[in-house]
Amino acid sequence: MPEGPSLVLAREALRPFAGLTVKSADGNTTQVDFERLQGSTLKSVRSWGKHLLLSFNKFTLRIHFLMFGSYAIGTPKAGRTPRLAIHFEGGETIFIYTASIKTIEGSLSKVYDWSADVMSTRWSSANAIVKLKAKPQTLICDALLNQEIFSGVGNIIKNEVLFRMRTHPLNKVADIPTARLKALVDDARVYSFLFLKWKRKFELKKHWEVHTRKKCPRDAHALVKIYPGTTRRRTFFCSHCQELFSKPPRGKSILAGIATTPLRNSGPIKRHKKAR
Ligand SMILES: [Zn+2]
Repeated sequence: MPEGPSLVLAREALRPFAGLTVKSADGNTTQVDFERLQGSTLKSVRSWGKHLLLSFNKFTLRIHFLMFGSYAIGTPKAGRTPRLAIHFEGGETIFIYTASIKTIEGSLSKVYDWSADVMSTRWSSANAIVKLKAKPQTLICDALLNQEIFSGVGNIIKNEVLFRMRTHPLNKVADIPTARLKALVDDARVYSFLFLKWKRKFELKKHWEVHTRKKCPRDAHALVKIYPGTTRRRTFFCSHCQELFSKPPRGKSILAGIATTPLRNSGPIKRHKKAR
Protein backbone atom coordinates (compact mmCIF):
# COMPACT_ATOMS: atom_id res chain seq x y z
CA MET A 1 0.00 0.00 0.00
CA PRO A 2 1.37 3.44 -0.80
CA GLU A 3 2.26 5.17 2.47
CA GLY A 4 2.21 8.94 3.02
CA PRO A 5 5.66 9.61 1.51
CA SER A 6 4.61 7.92 -1.75
CA LEU A 7 1.66 10.31 -1.90
CA VAL A 8 4.08 13.22 -1.58
CA LEU A 9 5.83 11.91 -4.69
CA ALA A 10 2.48 11.57 -6.52
CA ARG A 11 1.57 15.12 -5.47
CA GLU A 12 4.87 16.43 -6.82
CA ALA A 13 4.42 14.56 -10.11
CA LEU A 14 0.90 15.90 -10.64
CA ARG A 15 1.46 19.46 -9.46
CA PRO A 16 2.50 20.74 -12.91
CA PHE A 17 -1.13 20.08 -13.98
CA ALA A 18 -2.43 22.76 -11.61
CA GLY A 19 -3.81 25.67 -13.63
CA LEU A 20 -4.81 23.46 -16.57
CA THR A 21 -8.40 23.09 -17.76
CA VAL A 22 -10.06 19.72 -18.22
CA LYS A 23 -11.05 18.91 -21.79
CA SER A 24 -12.83 15.66 -20.91
CA ALA A 25 -12.85 12.85 -18.38
CA ASP A 26 -13.80 9.18 -18.43
CA GLY A 27 -13.14 5.92 -16.63
CA ASN A 28 -15.10 3.25 -14.78
CA THR A 29 -15.67 5.19 -11.56
CA THR A 30 -19.28 5.98 -10.70
CA GLN A 31 -18.25 8.58 -8.13
CA VAL A 32 -17.21 11.36 -10.48
CA ASP A 33 -19.45 13.62 -12.56
CA PHE A 34 -17.47 13.69 -15.83
CA GLU A 35 -19.61 16.49 -17.28
CA ARG A 36 -18.99 18.68 -14.30
CA LEU A 37 -15.27 18.02 -14.58
CA GLN A 38 -15.27 19.12 -18.22
CA GLY A 39 -14.22 22.76 -18.48
CA SER A 40 -13.11 22.89 -14.81
CA THR A 41 -9.67 24.16 -13.94
CA LEU A 42 -7.43 22.13 -11.61
CA LYS A 43 -6.70 24.58 -8.81
CA SER A 44 -4.37 22.60 -6.59
CA VAL A 45 -2.85 19.19 -5.98
CA ARG A 46 -2.42 18.27 -2.33
CA SER A 47 -2.12 15.16 -0.21
CA TRP A 48 -3.35 14.21 3.23
CA GLY A 49 -1.81 11.00 4.46
CA LYS A 50 -2.73 8.39 1.89
CA HIS A 51 -5.22 10.64 0.07
CA LEU A 52 -4.37 12.54 -3.08
CA LEU A 53 -6.53 15.65 -3.40
CA LEU A 54 -7.24 17.26 -6.76
CA SER A 55 -9.13 20.51 -6.11
CA PHE A 56 -11.25 22.25 -8.73
CA ASN A 57 -13.37 25.40 -8.30
CA LYS A 58 -16.05 24.11 -5.96
CA PHE A 59 -15.14 20.50 -5.38
CA THR A 60 -12.21 18.17 -4.78
CA LEU A 61 -11.55 14.66 -6.05
CA ARG A 62 -10.22 12.51 -3.22
CA ILE A 63 -8.16 9.62 -4.53
CA HIS A 64 -7.23 6.83 -2.14
CA PHE A 65 -4.91 4.28 -3.72
CA LEU A 66 -5.90 1.42 -1.37
CA MET A 67 -3.62 -1.64 -1.63
CA PHE A 68 -2.77 -1.71 -5.33
CA GLY A 69 -3.67 1.71 -6.68
CA SER A 70 -1.43 3.59 -9.07
CA TYR A 71 -1.37 6.42 -11.56
CA ALA A 72 0.19 7.17 -14.92
CA ILE A 73 0.90 10.39 -16.75
CA GLY A 74 0.66 10.66 -20.52
CA THR A 75 0.64 7.00 -21.54
CA PRO A 76 -2.03 4.64 -20.19
CA LYS A 77 -1.07 1.26 -18.75
CA ALA A 78 -1.52 -1.46 -21.35
CA GLY A 79 -4.58 -3.67 -20.91
CA ARG A 80 -5.88 -1.75 -17.89
CA THR A 81 -9.09 0.24 -17.62
CA PRO A 82 -8.49 3.38 -15.61
CA ARG A 83 -10.78 4.18 -12.73
CA LEU A 84 -10.47 7.77 -13.92
CA ALA A 85 -8.73 9.47 -16.84
CA ILE A 86 -8.57 13.26 -16.91
CA HIS A 87 -7.68 14.71 -20.30
CA PHE A 88 -6.46 18.31 -20.16
CA GLU A 89 -6.52 21.02 -22.78
CA GLY A 90 -3.12 20.86 -24.40
CA GLY A 91 -3.11 17.09 -24.67
CA GLU A 92 -1.81 15.71 -21.37
CA THR A 93 -3.73 13.02 -19.45
CA ILE A 94 -3.64 11.71 -15.89
CA PHE A 95 -4.73 8.07 -15.46
CA ILE A 96 -5.77 6.69 -12.05
CA TYR A 97 -5.99 2.92 -11.49
CA THR A 98 -7.54 0.70 -8.78
CA ALA A 99 -8.27 3.59 -6.46
CA SER A 100 -11.24 4.66 -4.39
CA ILE A 101 -12.37 8.05 -5.70
CA LYS A 102 -14.84 10.38 -4.02
CA THR A 103 -16.02 13.90 -4.66
CA ILE A 104 -15.79 16.27 -1.72
CA GLU A 105 -17.85 19.47 -1.89
CA GLY A 106 -16.58 22.79 -0.57
CA SER A 107 -13.62 23.55 1.65
CA LEU A 108 -11.23 20.76 2.59
CA SER A 109 -10.38 22.19 5.99
CA LYS A 110 -13.79 21.05 7.24
CA VAL A 111 -12.94 17.50 6.24
CA TYR A 112 -9.22 17.19 7.00
CA ASP A 113 -7.20 17.66 10.15
CA TRP A 114 -3.92 18.77 8.58
CA SER A 115 -2.15 18.50 11.93
CA ALA A 116 -2.58 14.71 11.74
CA ASP A 117 -0.59 14.35 8.50
CA VAL A 118 2.97 13.26 9.36
CA MET A 119 4.23 14.75 6.07
CA SER A 120 2.50 18.11 6.53
CA THR A 121 4.16 21.35 7.64
CA ARG A 122 1.11 21.65 9.90
CA TRP A 123 1.80 18.30 11.65
CA SER A 124 1.45 18.57 15.43
CA SER A 125 3.13 16.01 17.67
CA ALA A 126 1.34 17.56 20.66
CA ASN A 127 -2.03 16.83 19.04
CA ALA A 128 -0.93 13.25 18.34
CA ILE A 129 -0.04 12.75 22.02
CA VAL A 130 -3.44 14.08 23.14
CA LYS A 131 -5.22 11.72 20.70
CA LEU A 132 -3.09 8.77 21.83
CA LYS A 133 -3.77 9.44 25.51
CA ALA A 134 -7.49 9.37 24.72
CA LYS A 135 -7.08 5.73 23.59
CA PRO A 136 -5.20 4.17 26.54
CA GLN A 137 -6.23 0.57 25.85
CA THR A 138 -5.23 0.61 22.18
CA LEU A 139 -2.20 -1.43 21.17
CA ILE A 140 0.58 0.81 19.89
CA CYS A 141 0.78 -1.28 16.69
CA ASP A 142 -2.86 -0.34 15.98
CA ALA A 143 -2.49 3.27 17.15
CA LEU A 144 0.37 3.94 14.71
CA LEU A 145 -1.90 2.88 11.85
CA ASN A 146 -4.78 5.08 13.00
CA GLN A 147 -5.03 7.65 10.19
CA GLU A 148 -6.76 10.19 12.44
CA ILE A 149 -3.64 10.25 14.61
CA PHE A 150 -0.83 9.38 12.15
CA SER A 151 -2.19 10.11 8.70
CA GLY A 152 0.20 8.68 6.14
CA VAL A 153 1.82 6.08 8.39
CA GLY A 154 1.49 2.63 6.87
CA ASN A 155 2.63 -0.81 7.89
CA ILE A 156 6.29 -0.47 6.93
CA ILE A 157 6.70 2.80 8.82
CA LYS A 158 4.90 1.27 11.82
CA ASN A 159 7.24 -1.74 11.99
CA GLU A 160 10.41 0.29 11.53
CA VAL A 161 9.48 3.05 14.01
CA LEU A 162 8.62 0.50 16.73
CA PHE A 163 11.99 -1.17 16.18
CA ARG A 164 13.95 2.09 16.08
CA MET A 165 12.32 3.22 19.33
CA ARG A 166 12.84 -0.22 20.92
CA THR A 167 9.14 -0.62 21.64
CA HIS A 168 7.19 -3.89 21.55
CA PRO A 169 4.16 -3.72 19.22
CA LEU A 170 1.84 -5.27 21.84
CA ASN A 171 2.21 -2.47 24.39
CA LYS A 172 -0.98 -0.70 25.29
CA VAL A 173 -0.69 3.07 24.90
CA ALA A 174 -1.42 3.58 28.63
CA ASP A 175 1.57 1.43 29.67
CA ILE A 176 4.18 3.21 27.55
CA PRO A 177 6.14 5.84 29.52
CA THR A 178 5.36 9.35 28.25
CA ALA A 179 8.95 10.01 27.16
CA ARG A 180 8.88 6.87 25.00
CA LEU A 181 5.48 7.77 23.61
CA LYS A 182 6.80 11.19 22.61
CA ALA A 183 9.84 9.57 21.00
CA LEU A 184 7.55 7.28 18.99
CA VAL A 185 5.40 10.18 17.84
CA ASP A 186 8.44 12.20 16.78
CA ASP A 187 10.02 9.26 15.00
CA ALA A 188 6.85 8.56 13.03
CA ARG A 189 7.51 11.88 11.28
CA VAL A 190 11.31 11.57 11.14
CA TYR A 191 11.14 8.09 9.65
CA SER A 192 8.45 9.13 7.15
CA PHE A 193 10.83 11.74 5.74
CA LEU A 194 13.66 9.18 5.60
CA PHE A 195 11.25 6.89 3.75
CA LEU A 196 10.60 9.70 1.26
CA LYS A 197 14.33 10.37 0.80
CA TRP A 198 15.08 6.66 0.21
CA LYS A 199 12.08 6.25 -2.06
CA ARG A 200 13.31 9.11 -4.27
CA LYS A 201 16.59 7.21 -4.64
CA PHE A 202 14.81 3.86 -5.26
CA GLU A 203 16.62 2.36 -2.30
CA LEU A 204 13.86 2.08 0.30
CA LYS A 205 13.98 -1.69 0.85
CA LYS A 206 17.66 -1.90 1.61
CA HIS A 207 17.08 0.35 4.65
CA TRP A 208 14.42 -1.88 6.21
CA GLU A 209 15.72 -3.20 9.51
CA VAL A 210 12.85 -5.47 10.56
CA HIS A 211 10.13 -5.21 7.92
CA THR A 212 10.20 -8.58 6.04
CA ARG A 213 13.53 -9.36 7.74
CA LYS A 214 14.41 -12.52 9.67
CA LYS A 215 17.14 -11.48 12.06
CA CYS A 216 17.43 -8.54 14.47
CA PRO A 217 20.21 -6.23 13.24
CA ARG A 218 20.92 -5.17 16.86
CA ASP A 219 21.33 -8.52 18.57
CA ALA A 220 20.90 -11.20 15.87
CA HIS A 221 17.90 -12.81 17.59
CA ALA A 222 15.26 -14.30 15.29
CA LEU A 223 12.51 -11.79 14.61
CA VAL A 224 8.88 -12.71 15.21
CA LYS A 225 6.07 -12.17 12.72
CA ILE A 226 2.50 -11.71 13.98
CA TYR A 227 -0.82 -10.27 12.78
CA PRO A 228 -1.94 -8.54 15.97
CA GLY A 229 -4.63 -6.21 17.23
CA THR A 230 -7.62 -4.91 15.34
CA THR A 231 -5.63 -3.93 12.25
CA ARG A 232 -4.08 -7.44 11.86
CA ARG A 233 -1.29 -6.16 9.66
CA ARG A 234 1.98 -8.04 9.26
CA THR A 235 4.15 -7.09 12.23
CA PHE A 236 7.87 -7.91 12.52
CA PHE A 237 9.65 -7.34 15.79
CA CYS A 238 12.44 -8.49 18.10
CA SER A 239 11.19 -9.72 21.47
CA HIS A 240 14.66 -9.20 22.99
CA CYS A 241 15.32 -5.54 22.33
CA GLN A 242 11.81 -4.10 21.86
CA GLU A 243 10.59 -3.37 25.36
CA LEU A 244 7.31 -4.66 26.68
CA PHE A 245 5.80 -2.42 29.36
CA SER A 246 2.32 -3.97 29.37
CA LYS A 247 1.97 -6.92 31.73
CA PRO A 248 0.66 -10.11 30.12
CA PRO A 249 -2.15 -11.94 31.98
CA ARG A 250 -0.77 -13.96 34.90
CA GLY A 251 1.05 -17.09 33.76
CA LYS A 252 0.49 -16.30 30.09
CA SER A 253 2.71 -15.04 27.33
CA ILE A 254 1.87 -11.67 25.79
CA LEU A 255 1.58 -13.60 22.54
CA ALA A 256 -1.13 -15.96 23.88
CA GLY A 257 -3.84 -16.30 21.26
CA ILE A 258 -1.84 -14.59 18.52
CA ALA A 259 -0.40 -16.65 15.68
CA THR A 260 3.37 -16.16 15.80
CA THR A 261 6.13 -17.15 13.47
CA PRO A 262 9.75 -17.23 14.57
CA LEU A 263 11.19 -16.37 11.18
CA ARG A 264 14.41 -18.33 11.13
CA ASN A 265 13.04 -21.84 10.65
CA SER A 266 9.55 -21.44 9.41
CA GLY A 267 7.75 -21.36 6.12
CA PRO A 268 5.17 -18.81 5.15
CA ILE A 269 2.11 -18.45 7.35
CA LYS A 270 -1.37 -17.81 6.15
CA ARG A 271 -2.24 -14.17 5.83
CA HIS A 272 -5.26 -12.98 7.78
CA LYS A 273 -7.96 -11.10 5.97
CA LYS A 274 -7.62 -7.40 6.62
CA ALA A 275 -10.09 -6.07 9.13
CA ARG A 276 -11.66 -3.03 7.55
ZN1 LIG B 1 16.78 -7.24 18.88
